[in-house]
Amino acid sequence: MVKRIAILGSTGSIGKNALRVIESLGEGYEVAALSAHSRVELLAEQVRRYKPRFAAITNADFTEEFRGLVGDLDVEVLAGPEGLAEIAQLEEVDIVLTAVVGAAGLPAVLSAAKAGKTLAIANKEPFVIAGELLTQIVKKSGSVILPVDSEHSAIFQAMQAGKHDEVSKIILTSSGGPFRKMSPEEIENVTLEQALSHPVWDMGPKITIDSATMMNKALEVIEAHWLFDMPVDKIEVLVHPESIVHSLVEFVDGSMIAQLGKPDMCLPIQYALTYPARVAGIAEHLQLDELGKLTFEKPNMETFRALSLGYEVARTGGTAAVVFNAANEAAVGEFLAGRIKFVRIVELIEHCLNKHKVKRQVSLEELLEADGWARREVEQRAREHKSVRA
Ligand code: NAD
Ligand code: MG
Repeated sequence: MVKRIAILGSTGSIGKNALRVIESLGEGYEVAALSAHSRVELLAEQVRRYKPRFAAITNADFTEEFRGLVGDLDVEVLAGPEGLAEIAQLEEVDIVLTAVVGAAGLPAVLSAAKAGKTLAIANKEPFVIAGELLTQIVKKSGSVILPVDSEHSAIFQAMQAGKHDEVSKIILTSSGGPFRKMSPEEIENVTLEQALSHPVWDMGPKITIDSATMMNKALEVIEAHWLFDMPVDKIEVLVHPESIVHSLVEFVDGSMIAQLGKPDMCLPIQYALTYPARVAGIAEHLQLDELGKLTFEKPNMETFRALSLGYEVARTGGTAAVVFNAANEAAVGEFLAGRIKFVRIVELIEHCLNKHKVKRQVSLEELLEADGWARREVEQRAREHKSVRA
């Protein structure tokens, strides 16, 4: 049986790696649909090479330009955010690899889950903000969720060594990002360029900034909570600068099962696509003797306030996570545009969390409302702050 794959966000870092993986897998794997937000030329190149039957341009302003570029090809073009949700539930698709960035992926993730697709999830934000809703939908539709995030892929693999109620804790590893060794005072004046230079991973700009604030790890704690149905207090974070041990599961007898590999997203992407099989692939193999030593340390919760906020948010539940995520997306946008300092990102998130009145058992509309509120709040605060400084 051929596995027909839709890649949502095929022009990004995960998307491009996924296409390399599919190409290397050869027979048995087919690209059925692709999407991009605005990089029309790259998407057109991908369509020419991988010949999907469907392609979506989520930013409708670029649709005509894109149509012009693929006019000679046999591809159906869909436009706008609805186009993304549409390709996620196509009959011609078996696996939906979600590689768009941010909460924008939520409608498509929900649509794929409702349609009972196998979801290979890289786009963690929808799971963070709508974990409860998604879990309910998945239970009903029989959709299968396979993690692509390297830590969650590692946990998913390690979990297979025992039963769910035999797990005593999950340990998520983190590279610690570029500012691992800095004090809160030193972080005050870091630049955009420094924040964008990740010591290990080559990723899209948003997740790279999230790694520098350790917001990425905070989001991953919440992601793990939902994905593995684990109480937050059983999820620990350890900084592991070498990024070789991608995460671990400790069982009640004291055994720890870890997954190791080079820091290369091709491996978790491939495992999600070939699961439950393992096949030889393009990821370079580890040479343990060349590694020297592997180190682990506790994260500095004072410097990386985002991480302690993440734990609080995960315990609070309800709309707290949606505000946490949306405030971060907006603040990272402000930082990337050069309008705020690095440290303001987490300050703005904390401000929104303090101001927000958490609602529980919420509908999708209420989630989106809280999301919109947090974004507006951050944009307004960022502007006010700027005028005070000017
Ligand atoms: P990226 O910025 O490189 O790519 C993002 C993709 O999303 C692009 O294809 C872009 O066209 C699309 N996109 C952007 N805005 C959009 C919108 N509003 N609507 C629809 N599509 C939009 O990002 P990335 O690094 O590939 O990360 C993608 C996701 O995977 C993120 O959620 C990230 O947290 C997660 N992830 C990434 C890595 C990694 O190594 N890059 C590792 C683990 C998890
Ligand atoms: Mg990760």
